[in-house]
Order: sequence, then C-alpha cells, then structure tokens
Amino acid sequence: MLIDLFMKRATVAALDDIGELYRLVTFEGSGLRDIAWVPGAQIQFPMAGSVLAVRTYTPIEWNAQAGRLVILAYLHGLGPGSAWFSGLVPGQQCDLYGPRKSIDARALPGALAVFGDETSIGLGYTLARQDPQKVVSLYLEIGDVVSAERVIADLGIENVTLFAKREDEAHLVQMEEMLAPLVNRGTSFVLTGKAGTIQRQRQALRKLGVSSNRIATKAFWATGKQGLD
Ligand SMILES: Cc1cc2nc3c(=O)[nH]c(=O)nc-3n(C[C@H](O)[C@H](O)[C@H](O)COP(=O)(O)OP(=O)(O)OC[C@H]3O[C@@H](n4cnc5c(N)ncnc54)[C@H](O)[C@@H]3O)c2cc1C
Repeated sequence: MLIDLFMKRATVAALDDIGELYRLVTFEGSGLRDIAWVPGAQIQFPMAGSVLAVRTYTPIEWNAQAGRLVILAYLHGLGPGSAWFSGLVPGQQCDLYGPRKSIDARALPGALAVFGDETSIGLGYTLARQDPQKVVSLYLEIGDVVSAERVIADLGIENVTLFAKREDEAHLVQMEEMLAPLVNRGTSFVLTGKAGTIQRQRQALRKLGVSSNRIATKAFWATGKQGLD
C-alpha cells in the first residue's frame, strides 16, 4: 500500500448534503496550508482500526492559504469509506494523507473529455476549473440520474452527458459511440470510475488509433474489490 509518510490532522468545517447520495465536505487544518496541489490529485483517509486501510478521494478545491479543501463523496452505501462520509459531523477531527498524484491533465493536448461515474463528478468539476481556456466535457454512467443532475446543477458544471446505468450494460455502447467524434476533434481523454468500464473504453480508444499521450486513466473502484488507490 502506497501511503504518504506524513499524516495531516483536519477538522470537518462544513457539510452539505446534496440529496441522499452525495455529500460535500469541507476539511480545515493548519497542515492543509502551503500545499502544492494539482487538480486531479488524490488524498486518502485511514479507516477505523488500521492506518493501512485507507480510502481515496479527490479534492475538488484546495485553498492552500486558508488550509481548506473540499471533497464530493458519493455515498454508495457498500463500504466503510461511504459509511465514514455519511457519519461525519461538523467539528469532527480526522487524519488524511496527501495530496498525491492521480490524474494530472496538464499535459493532455486539446479539449478534455472526462469519462467516469458518480465518483468522477468532483474530478470533472476541478478539471473544468483548472484552465478556463480548455473545453472540458463529462460523460458519466450513473445509477440515479436525478440525484446526479442535482449535484451537477448545484456545482454549476457544464457540458455533462449522463448515461443511465443498465443491467445489460447497453449504456456502455452508447458511451462508446461518443468516442469517435471526440477523437476526430483532437480531444484528449480522462478515463476514471469503474475499472471494467475504463478497460472497455481504453480498448475502444486504442482501436480508434488514439495515442497514449492523449489518454489518462485511473480506476476509482472495481466490483468486489476494496479501497483502490
Ligand atoms: C484516485 C481515486 C480518487 C477517487 N475520488 C473519489 C471522489 O472524489 N469521490 C468519491 O465518491 N469516490 C472517489 N473515489 C472512489 C472511492 O475511493 C471508492 O468508491 C471506494 O471504494 C469507496 O470506499 P468504500 O469503503 O465505500 O468501499 P470499498 O470497501 O472500497 O468497497 C466495498 C464494495 O463497494 C463497491 N463499490 C466501491 N465503490 C463503489 C461505487 N462508486 N459504486 C458502486 N459500488 C462501489 C466495491 O465494488 C466493493 O464491492 C476515488 C478513488 C480513487 C482510487
């Protein structure tokens, strides 16, 4: 397990529930000041009982002067990370590690297409704010479309296309149909979210002849696996 050596102490400064499935959490702490943060980087929270069992999240903002960062957590309800975020209360203290490199979109040429799911909304938000000159669009597979639409509206994220998840995964075919026109326009790709979906999309991009310098990938979770980092 790769974890940073130095743990930082933080306090839950604000909680904002967006429907029942998403929670915006603001953490503050002197250890969060003077940090060189690149949008797309990850941080990790140790889970109760073990400093080695960590769960990984993406700050959507990091104010290094104030020592404050914000996470958008998707509360899928199937693991300790999701339960931990659900149970946070204002003023609660916690530890975190990072930031550490995850997605770094700075070198990707052209417009950016972020593919992912509920766990990628925060990443899409922060990449869209990183460079106002860059056109960023999001393509997300989503279980509860209404909840996701609310988060996207609250955060003011533009250029988002949602694909309702289907048992037979037919929505993945629709997502793959988006790729060729984007490729033809010289777009670069950020593939995140569910590992199996990323694998499919990566193969499709390879078939379309997209070079690896136009693709950044990071699996955020995988069916049956715990705590990817
Ligand atoms: C670099 C990186 C950045 C990330 N950024 C964010 C972020 O900003 N916001 C965010 O909400 N998540 C983010 N994630 C995803 C998050 O870390 C995972 O969803 C993680 O598994 C949650 O931990 P858990 O303890 O709730 O579930 P785990 O104990 O890890 O998994 C338990 C079970 O839940 C399933 N599961 C895990 N995640 C999901 C899911 N999203 N949907 C459905 N089933 C799931 C697993 O398959 C497993 O069977 C990120 C992950 C990585 C690697």
